[in-house]
Amino acid sequence: MVFKVKGDRPVYDVIVIGAGVTGGFVARELLRYKLKVALLEKNNDVCCEVTRANTAIVHSGYSAKPGALKAGMTVRANENFHHVCEELQVEFKRTGSLMIAIGEYGLEKIYQKLKRGKKNGVKGMKILNREETLALEPNINPEIVMSLFVPSTGVVNPWEFGLAAVENAVDNGAELFLNTRVTGLEKKSGLYSVKTDNGVFTAKYVVNCAGLYADEISEMVAEPFFKIVPRRGEYFVLDTDAGDHVGRVIFQAREDDTKGCIVTPTVHGNILVGPSAEDLQDKDDNATTQERMDLIKSVIQRSVVGIPYNHVIRSFAGIRPRPNWVSQNPETGDLECYEDDVKDFILGEPEGCENFFNVAGIKSPGLTCAQEIGDYMAGLVIAKMQNPQLNERFNPCRPKKVRFAQMSLEEQQQLVRQDRRYGKIVCRCKKVTEAEVVDAIWRNAGARTVDGVKRRAGTGLGRCQGGFCTEEILKILSRELGKPLEEIEKDGSGSYVVSGRLK
Ligand SMILES: Cc1cc2nc3c(=O)[nH]c(=O)nc-3n(C[C@H](O)[C@H](O)[C@H](O)COP(=O)(O)OP(=O)(O)OC[C@H]3O[C@@H](n4cnc5c(N)ncnc54)[C@H](O)[C@@H]3O)c2cc1C
Repeated sequence: MVFKVKGDRPVYDVIVIGAGVTGGFVARELLRYKLKVALLEKNNDVCCEVTRANTAIVHSGYSAKPGALKAGMTVRANENFHHVCEELQVEFKRTGSLMIAIGEYGLEKIYQKLKRGKKNGVKGMKILNREETLALEPNINPEIVMSLFVPSTGVVNPWEFGLAAVENAVDNGAELFLNTRVTGLEKKSGLYSVKTDNGVFTAKYVVNCAGLYADEISEMVAEPFFKIVPRRGEYFVLDTDAGDHVGRVIFQAREDDTKGCIVTPTVHGNILVGPSAEDLQDKDDNATTQERMDLIKSVIQRSVVGIPYNHVIRSFAGIRPRPNWVSQNPETGDLECYEDDVKDFILGEPEGCENFFNVAGIKSPGLTCAQEIGDYMAGLVIAKMQNPQLNERFNPCRPKKVRFAQMSLEEQQQLVRQDRRYGKIVCRCKKVTEAEVVDAIWRNAGARTVDGVKRRAGTGLGRCQGGFCTEEILKILSRELGKPLEEIEKDGSGSYVVSGRLK
């Protein structure tokens, strides 16, 4: 991993802008070929924007319009999800889901979804009556009429999925540049010159995976044709002792055809409730609000009853990169957004921009489809090359991760005998050891911040939310990175925790 290096740089075959889950998978899939790939990320860690805060559902594929790219991608990605998670050592549970209908309108909707799902190739879908539904999920609103059961829906650890893709890309040779914000793009003599606040990079091909900012990157070389309108979604997280309130992902059949408010188990054994949907001006505004939280509670009680909100341990918000087409107003000449948003992912070369590719408008189910998108995009880029060589040394597997808390006592004792750092529990809520924290720091694309350790090792995810372990993690980061405590950040750039010493 390279932090800030200026000076002479090689010409890369491909520069990928943005190290979220899609950038990670695009880079990983490109590295199945012998290519020099650079991954440029503006933040001090990877997967810190859209990939960081979402519902983490591995969708089955019954929502997308038949024929849309995302329809086929979701179904294939869902079928292959277990395999990719095994390669990358990521936690994934196939929980199944229920879309519940309350009243006549809901019934019509679930039959529509069933029809659409069948067209898209989703397997095993079934309509359940009221009694069958309540037998599976006793906390569902008893006023329910019917539900659509889909066995292939799952939940994944969203941070780990994105991080694993980037880590595996770096393991296979991608060069990751953090704190490197792309500020301009220019094509000169057949090569792209990518200007950043960390110097200039040059490449034959550029793939724009900049999430909420993909429109701004695209407009550096192409005419504006889409705009990303940020749409915030807020959530509650309930402690693991409320974790059996539902066992499956519970959707509501909704009039506006959105996925709406959901109650879902997480891979960590918590319950997640949300998200809301609110269009914003500011792409970085991930604050939570009492107003939206109250709205979520009132919407959710239509589907699941008795949610123990006194077990809420955290609230957070994610921002959807909602793409809208733009066109020029013939009278004023101004660019205007269409009312209708874009119904598919925007993947490929914009007009007149050879060898520059957009991966834009990657809202839900972008997490589910990330590997498929990576594969599709790598295919588009490789098709432009003459004699691309397969990389025989490509390894799709990520080194095994120790999950101490999930091991038997005998296995734990054996580990402690091998490495005494497994004998020191750093996070008491989630039983994460010092050795796991150190591993999170020293893997490729490793953690450099307290929250970076959290996303990789699972520290601070329990009831105390880091109240006890933050100090210990600060000390380990300081020791391992050889930096004073005052220079260790909690999360984003400048989020220092310690301001100085009193004595
Ligand atoms: C509320 C919500 C719920 C969702 N629920 C689900 C779900 O249940 N299931 C599902 O499949 N999907 C879901 N999604 C969608 C999924 O989270 C996204 O599709 C996916 O995370 C998008 O990843 P990305 O890599 O495209 O974007 P990001 O993760 O945002 O990555 C883009 C990266 O580009 C970087 N970048 C931006 N500008 C620059 C620049 N100028 N220079 C350098 N780097 C730059 C950013 O810092 C960022 O790291 C949800 C999304 C939201 C917000």
